[in-house]
Amino acid sequence: MFKFLQQVGDYAKGTVQAAKYIGQGLSVTFDHMQRRPVTVQYPYEKLIPSERFRGRIHFEFDKCISCEVCVRVCPINLPVVDWEFDRTSKKKKLNHYSIDFGVCIFCGNCVEYCPTNCLSMTEEYELSTYDRHDLNYDNVALGRLPYKVTQDPMVTPLRELAYLPKGVSDPHDLPAGAPRPGKFPQDIIEATKAQEDSEKDKAEAAQ
Ligand code: SF4
Ligand code: SF4
Repeated sequence: MFKFLQQVGDYAKGTVQAAKYIGQGLSVTFDHMQRRPVTVQYPYEKLIPSERFRGRIHFEFDKCISCEVCVRVCPINLPVVDWEFDRTSKKKKLNHYSIDFGVCIFCGNCVEYCPTNCLSMTEEYELSTYDRHDLNYDNVALGRLPYKVTQDPMVTPLRELAYLPKGVSDPHDLPAGAPRPGKFPQDIIEATKAQEDSEKDKAEAAQ
């Protein structure tokens, strides 16, 4: 009889323990049900790339002088500059230009060293294709400007974590004027210019 009662007592204790654990698990579930997910619901929502984001390269055919500096500074000599010498104008004539983004490491060297600034890095990061050869962009594909996340009516743009106000980690439903931690590059340039002007004025006044 005593053994039976002990078994019933152990069973009851086990049941209470199990109910407690289930309750703890469900409390976490219910807590998360009330929160909005911080995750970005791609492709309906997209993060706004930062100002210095190194995405797909943009190329301006008319500006290129076929100097091949971009090839020499590229760690893998990637850009293909196909040119011929034009005897009439005694200048190099560019025929084709291409970069294979299946191989490019987006280091930005070519953009940095191009003497005519005909290369620039865009904010485009959606480069997935079914065939990797499709990533070999010719001068026509490189000349296309990407669609901005902020101008796409089909997409809700969200700020990256680094651009959220201090202490905020959820980019959803932020008021438009919510401050970001740092200044925009344009603001920094203007502030620097204003400081330089005031220093110049002071120096002139002192003379
Ligand atoms: S460095 Fe610039 S100008 Fe020279 S070949 Fe490359 S893209 Fe053209
Ligand atoms: S970004 Fe870097 S790896 Fe890509 S083409 Fe330019 S220099 Fe080469």
